This record gives sequence, structure tokens and C-alpha cells, in this order.
Amino acid sequence: MKNIVLIAPPGAGKGTQAKMLCEKYKIPHISVGDLLRREIENNGLYKEILQEKMSSGLLVDDEIIFNLMNQRLNKDDCNNGFILDGFPRNVNQAIELDKMSKKIDIIIYLNTPKNILEKRVLGRMVCSNCGYSFNLLFDESKPKEINKCDNCKSTLEKRKDDNLETFENRYNTYIKETQPVLDYYKEKNILYNITTTDKYETFNMIVNILGE
Ligand code: AMP
Repeated sequence: MKNIVLIAPPGAGKGTQAKMLCEKYKIPHISVGDLLRREIENNGLYKEILQEKMSSGLLVDDEIIFNLMNQRLNKDDCNNGFILDGFPRNVNQAIELDKMSKKIDIIIYLNTPKNILEKRVLGRMVCSNCGYSFNLLFDESKPKEINKCDNCKSTLEKRKDDNLETFENRYNTYIKETQPVLDYYKEKNILYNITTTDKYETFNMIVNILGE
């Protein structure tokens, strides 16, 4: 299987797509945001700086991210493909990724309008156990039972950075830092642009690109 990167603004559903794709292709989902949130939960070395940056919608320093990604990509489960969700998020990170041990085959860009992103972020609820994401503001994404995960029945939680103020900052950071990464990959001819916002249509389009 291929080594895939998902790039998207906050709330575009890259985590949801990554989870669905990993189940289909049996490859690991590497969510940088989840790895960072786990560092905070485990009182890791960088807890304070991570909390500060993440709660203000800014990017965490590249050196911290490079350490984390080098360790993660060198694990054995990355030898037969993976989905990278949340890295690279600026051009410096894209250049560094080219120097890491794994070559990227395909970049999928989920191109989503800002009004939908805002609604997705404000309605998002995430399972505290398995990480599945639901949305109270979209009928097709509501959990079947109130505040319970459809997948594992654990309690759903709101992410600390899913509020209007942090969303604005995350969106601005995305425009300034992450959008230029798309030009970097356009030149390498490995970038695929997905413009639909329907969850299942998006999934089918990605499967068409990746193959069965
Ligand atoms: P996410 O879960 O992908 O929305 O990421 C949540 C937050 O983690 C972001 O707003 C950033 O503060 C931080 N973060 C995630 N990935 C990166 C990255 N590649 N570089 C720097 N900061 C990151």
C-alpha cells in the first residue's frame, strides 16, 4: 500500500477520512494532533508548550514535531503504507519529510469552504476511547445515542480547541502556513484535490485515486 498524506483546513474531516481509509486498507493512521494530545495527557516533556500552542491555534515548534515523526515513521507498522494526518503543516516540515525514512506517494487535499469548516468544528464530538468523530450539527454524523460512541459505546468529548476563537486562529494559521505546502506538492505532481464535502463521496473519490 502507498504512503499517503492528507492535507486539509481544520474541520475538513481528515481524521474521519483517515480512520475510514485505515480500516479499508489495514494501514496505520498517524494523527499528529492525537500524538500531541497523548503527550499532554501523559505529562510528557513538552506538556506546557504543547498546551499553550494548541489552545491558541498555533503550530507546535518544528523540532518537537520532527522528533515525534521520525520516531513514529520508523516503527515497523509503517513499512507497508500509512496515512499521515496533520503532517506536514508548513513548507519547512514538507522539506524535512522528504529527508525522512519514508517516501510519500500521494497527497490528498480536502478542499472545504470556511462556513462548513466552522460548523464542523463547533459541532464535533470525539470518542474518548477509540477517537471516532461525530457531529451534532450534521444529521448524517450524529451519534445514535446521546453522547455515546456508535463504535465502542464510550463517552464523547469536545476537544478543547474546538471553539470559535481557536477555530479562527487555526484557520488563519492554516492559510498562512499550510496552504503553501500545496504548491510544494503541486510541483511534484503527486497532489489530488477533492472538492466535495460529503463524507461518503469524499471517501469514494479517495478510494478511486488509491485503487481497491
Ligand atoms: P489537529 O488534531 O490535526 O487539528 O491538530 C491540533 C493542533 O495540534 C494544531 O492546531 C497544532 O497546534 C498542533 N499540530 C498538529 N500537527 C502539527 C504539525 N504538523 N506541526 C505543528 N503543530 C501541529
